[in-house]
Amino acid sequence: MPLTTTYWLEHAWLGSHTEPGVALDVTDGRITAVRTGADTPPPGATVLRGLTVPGLANAHSHAFHRALRGTVQVGSGTFWTWREVMYSVAQRLTPDSYFALARAVYAEMALAGITAVGEFHYLHHAPGGTPYADPNAMGEALIAAAGEAGIRITLLDTAYLSSGFGAAPDHHQLRFSDGTAEKWAERVSALEERDGVRIGAAIHSVRAVPADQLSTVARWAEERRAPLHVHLSEQTAENEACHAAHGVTPTRLLADHGVLGPRTTGVHNTHMTDADIALVGSTSTGTCMCPTTERDLADGIGPAAALQKAGSPLSLGSDSHAVIDLLEEARAMELNERLRTHIRGHWTAAALLRAASADGHAALGRPDAGVLEPGAPADFATIALDTVRTAGPVPRLAAETAVFAATAADVRHVVVGGREIVRDGAHVSVPDVPRALAEAIAALRD
Ligand SMILES: [Zn+2]
Repeated sequence: MPLTTTYWLEHAWLGSHTEPGVALDVTDGRITAVRTGADTPPPGATVLRGLTVPGLANAHSHAFHRALRGTVQVGSGTFWTWREVMYSVAQRLTPDSYFALARAVYAEMALAGITAVGEFHYLHHAPGGTPYADPNAMGEALIAAAGEAGIRITLLDTAYLSSGFGAAPDHHQLRFSDGTAEKWAERVSALEERDGVRIGAAIHSVRAVPADQLSTVARWAEERRAPLHVHLSEQTAENEACHAAHGVTPTRLLADHGVLGPRTTGVHNTHMTDADIALVGSTSTGTCMCPTTERDLADGIGPAAALQKAGSPLSLGSDSHAVIDLLEEARAMELNERLRTHIRGHWTAAALLRAASADGHAALGRPDAGVLEPGAPADFATIALDTVRTAGPVPRLAAETAVFAATAADVRHVVVGGREIVRDGAHVSVPDVPRALAEAIAALRD
């Protein structure tokens, strides 16, 4: 007889509105009943005070970038100068040190209410480009790290073959390259899905995968019905180089090689023409916005509203982990658009939560997640409504309070697959997350 656990949610986000007093039954890791009108906790129920929302999906992560936090805030520069510092950290990582860092970073994500991460993973080989004894040792380290932190992972194993259009990888990039897309596919095919783990594909960018090899990666994802992600038009320099090499925009190039479609997500989609936006929208290609990274790297404000209107579902990611806070990503998308247009109210709190949960999970190959409904995975996070940032909400506007004023620090409880991974603001299986982060990052310094 499977065991059923009942949770009593003081307030629950049910997709369109905040409902007070909800009893939620969980059996075998899935939600089996959602009962409204529960004014008081049923006997034996676990009480979750605050606003419970579906688990958040961090649709774009490079776990090792967390080691750069703070150190890249000195001096001026651009995305391209930031990238040099990022490469120097990448050089020092081994499967063991990457496991320790990623375990701590994914635990930080868990504390922020994130129940699934899309890890855009391109650091495959030993320094110099020599494969490890297990050619997927780095990817397996990330999978193990997510398991220890209790969150789900979609490993978006990334093809990264060239430094620029027609240029061989530079010395930093040798660790990223499998040589050819066929060799990439051969290596990635050895990775196995398991409980909490999906294997997806990524094209680092049109800079990093030659045009004649794009379709090999797209076909691999198509055959497996796997998600396919790609950094797209984050920088104007990439658009210009693509034009010079191929006479088209990066979006057009991807479309011409069969990369766009409903299982594909373009990450950033910042500098796009009207024709690019129409192409992304008409193919139902997703858009993953990473507003805290895009502002940190001085990338620009992407046309998220226009992309969504054209048919592109929106997801959110913390990317370089300048901060790890999906609530901040969600409101930043809206607030950037307000600054750009001088108009308020482009997305409701409901629409922002959808990007931060259901549409994010769908972009990671989990279309059944991100809702508090029978049949969905029992993945949810409770945001406290009694902290200095959130106290005093109008009950029916609890979600508006959470999305526009709460931070990751207000997340109190997190459940993944019916298992509590964060209780009362503390991680259950990684006892001291700040210390784990400090030690893993210190180990990478000179
Ligand atoms: Zn990225």
